[in-house]
Amino acid sequence: MSQLVAIPTFVKDGPCTVHRYHWPKPLRIVNHHVQPLEMGGTDTSDNKVRVCDTGHYNIHRVMAEINHGFPQSGTKMERFLADVGFHRWVADGKPGRFVYQLWDIHASQ
Ligand SMILES: [Zn+2]
Ligand SMILES: [Zn+2]
Repeated sequence: MSQLVAIPTFVKDGPCTVHRYHWPKPLRIVNHHVQPLEMGGTDTSDNKVRVCDTGHYNIHRVMAEINHGFPQSGTKMERFLADVGFHRWVADGKPGRFVYQLWDIHASQ
């Protein structure tokens, strides 16, 4: 696990959790479910963070890398969020189906 211990508090319409400050500005910021809904996650504030499309793509990529045993990319926050999501899924008994690609899921704004 990363040395980060808690996922950032979900703030409706808040900034990107991964990068905080952006230049240029992201085209949009979406709600990412730390444990994806398709993997048994809940649509609750303790399971959601705000991320830009780049951060979102990277989190899911790192989660797939963790699932393959070779986490190697991502920023500290991207790796942390992927790690928490993956381990919540494992702790729940691996419900649903593993989300390998961002385009397999439905991002909500
Ligand atoms: Zn997501
Ligand atoms: Zn961002």
